[in-house]
Formats: sequence, C-alpha cells, structure tokens
Amino acid sequence: MNNIVFICGSESATKSQWLTILKKEIVNETILLPEQISESQAKQVDIAIVANPEPKDLARFPNLVWIQSLWAGVEKLVSAVTDKPVKLVRLEDPQLAKTMAESVLAWTFYLQRNMVEYAKQQTNKQWRQLPSISCSELQVSVLGAGALGIAALTVLKKLDYQVSCWSRTAKQLDGIKNYLGTAGLHTMLSKTDILINLLPLTPETHHLLGKDLLSKLPRGAKLINFSRGAVIDSKALLNLLENGHIAHAVLDVFEHEPLTPTNAIWTNPNITVLPHISAPTNMHSAAKVIAKNITNYRENNVIPGAVNVKQGY
Ligand code: NAP
Repeated sequence: MNNIVFICGSESATKSQWLTILKKEIVNETILLPEQISESQAKQVDIAIVANPEPKDLARFPNLVWIQSLWAGVEKLVSAVTDKPVKLVRLEDPQLAKTMAESVLAWTFYLQRNMVEYAKQQTNKQWRQLPSISCSELQVSVLGAGALGIAALTVLKKLDYQVSCWSRTAKQLDGIKNYLGTAGLHTMLSKTDILINLLPLTPETHHLLGKDLLSKLPRGAKLINFSRGAVIDSKALLNLLENGHIAHAVLDVFEHEPLTPTNAIWTNPNITVLPHISAPTNMHSAAKVIAKNITNYRENNVIPGAVNVKQGY
C-alpha cells in the first residue's frame, strides 16, 4: 500500500500531537512526515493529509490523488491545486458543525442580552436595566447555508428566533427562509437584526460585505463574523460602526491574523475581538472522519466530496 504524507505547517508540538492522533485512528496505513519520504518514494504517495502546507511541500508529491485538509476553510489550498488533477477534500466533521453552532448561539445571546452594554455599565458603576428582546422578536440571518450554516440555523430555529439564510443554491429548510441572488440578499439584510457570516472566502465573497451591502442592514443591526476576515471590507465596517449604523460587531476572524498590537480594532468599543476560536478542529473527531474517508477510498475507490476549485469552496 502507498504511504500517506502528513504535511503540517503548525508548530512542532501541535504537529506531533496531530500525528499521534492520526496514527491512532488511521490503522493499517503508514503516515509519514515529508522529511521521512525519499524523492523516489514521494512519487508513490497518493494521499496527503494537510494543515497550512507550503505549496512547495505539496509539489514534492506529484502523484497525489487527493488532499485531505484538516480545516473546513480551504481558500489557501484552492490556489495551490488549481489546474492540477488532484482532488481537494475539506474537513466536514459533525463535531465541528456542533461547535460552530454553539458559538453562534453564545455570541447571539451576547448581543441579544446586552452583555456589551452591561459590561460597560459595570465599569461605570451604572445600575440601568436595558430593554429585553425575546428570541421570537429577533431576526437572525446567516450568510451561507453549508455544513456550518445549517447547524447554526437549526439551533437558532429551535430557540424560536426568526431565521433566514442566504446561499448560492436553493434550500428547503423547515421554518427557515432562504434567499438567493443579489436581490434576495438585499431583502434579507433589510430585515436583519443580527447578521452572521459563515460564507467561505472565494473570489466572489472577497470583500462582499462592503459599504453598499452593510448599509442595507437596518440602523442598529449587529454583526458576527465567524468565517473569514476578508469576506468583510473592514474599512467600510469601521466607518459604519463609527457612525452608529452598525451597533456592534463580534469578529473572530481578520484579514491578517493575528491582529498586530497597534491595530485600532483592539480598542474599538464597538468591536468584540476573538482570536479565531469560534470552531476549532477537534483532533480526535477529525481524525475519525479522515480515517473513514481513507478506508472508503482504499476499499471502494471513493474520494469524499471534493471542493469545486473553480467556485473556490
Ligand atoms: P460549506 O459547507 O462549503 O458552505 C458554504 C455556504 O456558503 C454554502 O451554503 C454556499 O452555498 C454558500 N456560498 C458560497 N459562496 C456563495 C456565494 N457567492 N453566494 C451565496 N452563497 C454562497 O462551508 P462550511 O463548512 O459551512 O464552512 C463555512 C466557512 O466557515 C469555511 O469556509 C471557513 O472559512 C469557516 N470556518 C471558520 C472557523 C472558525 O473557527 N472561525 C472554523 C471552521 C470553518 P451553496 O449551499 O448553495 O453551495
């Protein structure tokens, strides 16, 4: 059987933790680091499991049939495999979707229940009760209705929020309004109290949320970005936060990570900064998903649903 290469750009402790867990879950396979594979052996490697690989590291393995990403977002890998026959498979792990849905719920509550304002009031020793809005009165809209979007929408719906989503292709979702196209997006935004971004970063979604679209939100709307920083034009967002059109933004992802210490976003009172933690990959569940994918490939020659490289997701 061919060897599997594990290419990981993370720091060495994380890399060895991943390797241990992958080896435990993926039995009957030999998983090697690139430096353990000779140039002639490299030609025989058909599967790469990767996390933040350098393109040159992938180029050493010219006969890869598929690349399994350890992450759900694969925008950097897409450009590395464009025009190559190799298939790119992103991580689709129900545990990851559950974690993201929990984060969406937590930070929706944070905005809905005025936690930002109460924290400020405490600093000023101010005793003031703010209006309470019930879930059923709040319109929460999710951009993207994929693996993570659907998980988030399902949890929100269960709690009686008014929920809508926007996607490229039509969805039939019980009690959840689905909008399509630019006109659909405008309509959805105009009715949104809390907007949650779960769109992948692609050429089409890069800076999609700029001045024009964000201005379609009603004055005082709030925003949560949990997918990729560059889906939002941060200059436009900062202006809309400054003039009060958007009341608050919870940002977990940024165009350049980590934020530099001098970045004004850190101290903006209308932004809550999170360090890319809304849905970390669970190493154990991810390794189990990948083990299943590899078994299915070895036994049935089936490669899991691959990324559409032209679409970018
Ligand atoms: P996914 O299953 O590929 O779903 C993407 C959704 O976006 C789909 O519903 C798709 O529409 C929609 N979409 C894409 N391009 C569109 C466009 N141009 N117009 C309208 N809709 C569009 O992705 P996922 O697994 O839900 O993950 C979403 C993103 O979350 C990832 O790409 C990653 O960047 C991010 N992420 C962040 C973290 C974190 O910790 N912050 C963790 C994991 C993932 P269709 O359904 O019609 O195709």
